[in-house]
Amino acid sequence: MATNPVENTSKTPLTLLGLGAMGTALAGAWLAAGHPLTVWNRTAARADGLAARGATVAATVAQAVAANRLVVVCLLDDASVLEALDGVDLTGKDLVNLVTSTPGQARARAAWAEQRGARYLDGGIMAVPPMIGVPAAGAYVFYSGSAELFEEHGGILAAPAGTRYVGADAGYAALHDVALLSGMYGMFAGIAHAFALVRGEAVAPSELAPLLGGWLAAMSGSVARTAEQLESGDYAQDVVSNLAMQVAGQETLLRTAEEQRVSAELLQPYFRLMERRLEIGGGEEDLTGVVDLLRR
Ligand code: NDP
Repeated sequence: MATNPVENTSKTPLTLLGLGAMGTALAGAWLAAGHPLTVWNRTAARADGLAARGATVAATVAQAVAANRLVVVCLLDDASVLEALDGVDLTGKDLVNLVTSTPGQARARAAWAEQRGARYLDGGIMAVPPMIGVPAAGAYVFYSGSAELFEEHGGILAAPAGTRYVGADAGYAALHDVALLSGMYGMFAGIAHAFALVRGEAVAPSELAPLLGGWLAAMSGSVARTAEQLESGDYAQDVVSNLAMQVAGQETLLRTAEEQRVSAELLQPYFRLMERRLEIGGGEEDLTGVVDLLRR
C-alpha cells in the first residue's frame, strides 16, 4: 500500500471503496474536510488524482478494509459489492453502503454484513456528483440500519452531504431513495410529453421551459395534499378539481396529442387508472385514489 506523506491525525480516518463519478466526489469532500482517507478502486489509475491530494491508495480491497474501522462503499451496484468484498474480513468494521439498491437488497446486505461481524448502515444518495461537498447545493443522503453506527459516524458522513436517518430497517434508505426517484421519473415523463407537443411549432423549447417549470412548481402542492388525504382516508377532502372533471378533460389532452402527432403512451397508463377510480365511484375525489389502485 502506498502511504501518502500528508498525515492528519485529528480527524477520524476512513476507507472508501469505489472511485467512479460519485466515489471521487465523496473522496474529495472527505479530503477537503481533513479526514485521512484510504481509497481503493478496481481500475487503480482512477485513484491518481486523489493520491496527489493526500489519499492513501490501497492495492487490494482487503488492505483498504483493514486500514480503517469505517468503510464506505460506493461501487456500481449490489453485485459489484458482493464481488469486491467476497472473502474480505469485515470483523469489527462499520460498513456504510452507498450503492443504489432495492430495499430487499439493502436488507440482505445488512444481514450479510452482520453475519461477518460488521455493523451496517445503508445509504441512498439524493444528489449528483457536482452537488457533493457543496453545502448550498442541498445534497443529502438517506441512511438506515445501525443507529449506533450512524450516531458514532454521523459527523464524518455529513462532510460530503446532509444526512437523514430514516430508521433501523436497513431497507428504508433505499425505499425513500427509490420513492423520490420514482416520483422524479413521473415528472420527467410529463416534461417529455409537454416538449413533444410544441416540437415543430413556433414555440421554442426555451420559451416553454420557464412556463412549464413554473407550472410544475405550482402543482407540487399536490404532494402534501395527497399525503393528508392518505392519512385521513378522506380523498374528497379539500378537492378543487374533482376526478370526474379531470377524466372528462383527458379527451382534450389525448386529442391534442393526436393533432400534434405525438404519442400519448406516457399519459395513457395514468389516465387509465383515473378512469378505473371513477368507475368505482371516486368522481368527487381528488386523484389520491390512484395510489390504492397501484397497490397489489
Ligand atoms: P460510476 O459508473 O462512475 O462508477 C462505478 C464504480 O463501480 C467504479 O469505481 C467501478 O470501478 C466500480 N465497479 C463497477 N463494477 C465493479 C466490480 N464488479 N467490482 C469492483 N468495482 C466495480 O458510478 P457512480 O460513481 O456514478 O455511482 C456509484 C453509486 O452511486 C451507484 O450505486 C449509483 O447508483 C450511486 N449514485 C450515483 C449518482 C450519480 O449521479 N453518479 C447519484 C446518486 C447515486 P472501475 O473504475 O474499475 O470501473
